[in-house]
Amino acid sequence: MKEKIFLASPHMSEEGYEKHYVQEAFDTNWIAPLGTNVNEFEKELAAKVGTSHAAALSAGTAAIHMALKAAGVGEGDIVFCQDLTFSATANPIIYQKAVPVFIDSDFETWNMSPKALEAAFEKYGDKVKAVLVVHLYGLSADLDPIMELCKKYGATLIEDAAESLGTTYKGRYTGTFGEYGIFSFNGNKIITTSGGGMLVSNDEERIAKVRFWSTQARDNARHYQHSELGFNYRMSNVVAGIGRGQLKVLDQRVAKKKYIYEYYKRELGCLEGVHMMPMNEWQDSNCWLSCITLSGKVRPLDIMLALEAENIESRPIWKPMHMQPFFEQYEFIGEGVSQELFENGVCLPSDTKMRDADLERIVSIIKGLF
Ligand SMILES: *Cc1c(COP(=O)(O)O)cnc(C)c1O
Repeated sequence: MKEKIFLASPHMSEEGYEKHYVQEAFDTNWIAPLGTNVNEFEKELAAKVGTSHAAALSAGTAAIHMALKAAGVGEGDIVFCQDLTFSATANPIIYQKAVPVFIDSDFETWNMSPKALEAAFEKYGDKVKAVLVVHLYGLSADLDPIMELCKKYGATLIEDAAESLGTTYKGRYTGTFGEYGIFSFNGNKIITTSGGGMLVSNDEERIAKVRFWSTQARDNARHYQHSELGFNYRMSNVVAGIGRGQLKVLDQRVAKKKYIYEYYKRELGCLEGVHMMPMNEWQDSNCWLSCITLSGKVRPLDIMLALEAENIESRPIWKPMHMQPFFEQYEFIGEGVSQELFENGVCLPSDTKMRDADLERIVSIIKGLF
């Protein structure tokens, strides 16, 4: 069996920062639930991305759920949600008994199309409670026109930046433009805590409320008193220690991801029918996954099977939400761009532990198909 190459796998720091913070939690017996690492991880991440407040949670999905709840999304409310994404973006809309309307992407950004969003707003007007935009694969959505539309119609903007920690849009970090932004530290994300998430916002009061809901909504009383529905969504102090260590190497990880993207671009970008994912001049992408679309004889499955035969992982592009059996009852507004990206796209191995020899192996297999 040839040596396995992963799509994206956890990459702890060579310096052992993560172990240091986890050890500190052990030494002080702050294993659970909260403690210094949680507080500091929140502060350090908020400082890094340039937002004033953050709540460390058990998952990115939990952070999306809490953002929707903080935005006042409840039963029957309409939420415009990017169609091309992972189901974790859309599921919390259902947790809140709200109604998703899926918005198409455009080819220029792969993310929410401002044009499709405008058409959707023209239909629903100020009945829309929130807009959930995603920065897929570390590519930034075109936020300015999206923010303008949200403002015009009074909808709360939530950014699912689960895949885009370290990406900037016009010089500022994604996740900090909307009223709420969320990050994920799941195992294959650009930095990982094994599992975890973060909700960021400049609204101190809302973040305090999210911490309250996430710790079972326990009122300030000696006995167990509850006036609201609670959740068990807080990040543990051990997990937060891993996050603090990982945050120290975020810039290194971004640099390596960019190197991987540039490598593929140089080696594959000129092959007939191969198109690299779009790099708009107003963004600086973290290149979380390097993705391509294909328009010639070689199809995504050909590449995925050829790599798989050599023990190398790759993936299709996310299957759009309006094509998912669970979500197909909900409305979709757009022109089939998300479907086209799904049908023609491939995510190439983007593991930051890869050496040049691994990249050479991958591109020579792919070139062999052309
Ligand atoms: C990973 C991911 C999530 C969910 O994050 P978890 O931490 O796994 O719950 C949400 N949205 C997108 C786009 C993701 O890639």
